[in-house]
Amino acid sequence: MSTTSTTSALSAPGAPGALAPAPRPVLAGIPAYVPKPPAPPAEGPSHRLFLNENPYPPLPSVRETIARAAAQTNHYPTIHPERLMDALARRLDVPPGHLVTGPGSVGIYQQIGQAMLEPGDEVVYAWPSFEAYPIVARMAGAVPVEVPLVDGVHDLDAMAAAITPRTRAVFLCEPNNPTGTAVGTAELKRFLDRVPGDVLVVLDEAYFEFSRSPNASDGVELHHDRPNLLTLRTFSKAYGLAGLRVGYGVAQPAIAGALRKCAVPCGVGRIAEEAALTALRVRAELFERVERIVAERERTREALLGLGWEVLPSEANFLWLPAGEASESVAEEWERRGLLVRAFPRSGLRVTVGSPEVNDLLITAAAQTAPPSR
Ligand code: PMP
Repeated sequence: MSTTSTTSALSAPGAPGALAPAPRPVLAGIPAYVPKPPAPPAEGPSHRLFLNENPYPPLPSVRETIARAAAQTNHYPTIHPERLMDALARRLDVPPGHLVTGPGSVGIYQQIGQAMLEPGDEVVYAWPSFEAYPIVARMAGAVPVEVPLVDGVHDLDAMAAAITPRTRAVFLCEPNNPTGTAVGTAELKRFLDRVPGDVLVVLDEAYFEFSRSPNASDGVELHHDRPNLLTLRTFSKAYGLAGLRVGYGVAQPAIAGALRKCAVPCGVGRIAEEAALTALRVRAELFERVERIVAERERTREALLGLGWEVLPSEANFLWLPAGEASESVAEEWERRGLLVRAFPRSGLRVTVGSPEVNDLLITAAAQTAPPSR
């Protein structure tokens, strides 16, 4: 019997008076993530410089681990990736109970929303910053409070002043995505001292390993005497495992335990866990690549500055070009040359640091494009 013949007119989709399950009203105000990716040219190679990915493919040792773990995918992983948590605890010199993991650090943001935010709570963060922040806040029914960056840098005084009795959390991206700037440990500590103890501070250190400032902050170190601090890091960037989705957070047990309760069970898969364990073991080799990326960041920035482009100093694996109104047209021009960068309309261009060859292509494109007049 066909299903159509047994479906009553009232329950047929689109029928007059049909009932339909309604998504939560807060979803109406949430933009669908992610913005349109840049379009590769019809011909010739193209280079992904729009997601702050690591340009280097996994090391052979990591690939072997992945292949081995692939043979066991009929088995569930453990609820939490306990072996990885133990390895991280040893590396970071923190008790395992201070750790939380997720499918990428964006996964942990969802846990923050579930564990820490109530409808109507305020969440303070800088803008522009990581694009997930308004989504996480809104999804929880919380109220985003955006504090403009000043010259691409967090305005910590204004952020402290934006905290009210309704503030439940502050999200602080250090170094900041998309501008690459960092406030440094002295400023950060001064800010943390001003945040009330019942306000959670999420210190997003996704790009921590690329920072070379002598004043760089280290949230793991800071968390020992700050019960309201949660530091997030990821295997996606420096460790080059973006495709496998492993992120982690460090906080004192009350916060870490609450977040673990909200984790998707088995949310970090077996292959991801094994690959992250191997990546930790071969860290020295991986971090030679990080050094190369840092050196390329500086070389590329100097070259672009020399060509008359404005480029902010960066502590991350990307550069921010505040190209203003020209941002979209420049991005389109570079797209035609296969350089897929991220344009923020009327604001700037975020360009991931690629391999030396790709950075050379970028420098050539920049030399052949008029920089916006200042
Ligand atoms: N935080 C920041 C600041 C990011 O830029 C990103 C990724 N672009 C993430 C978190 C999420 O990374 P992942 O989920 O891959 O760990």
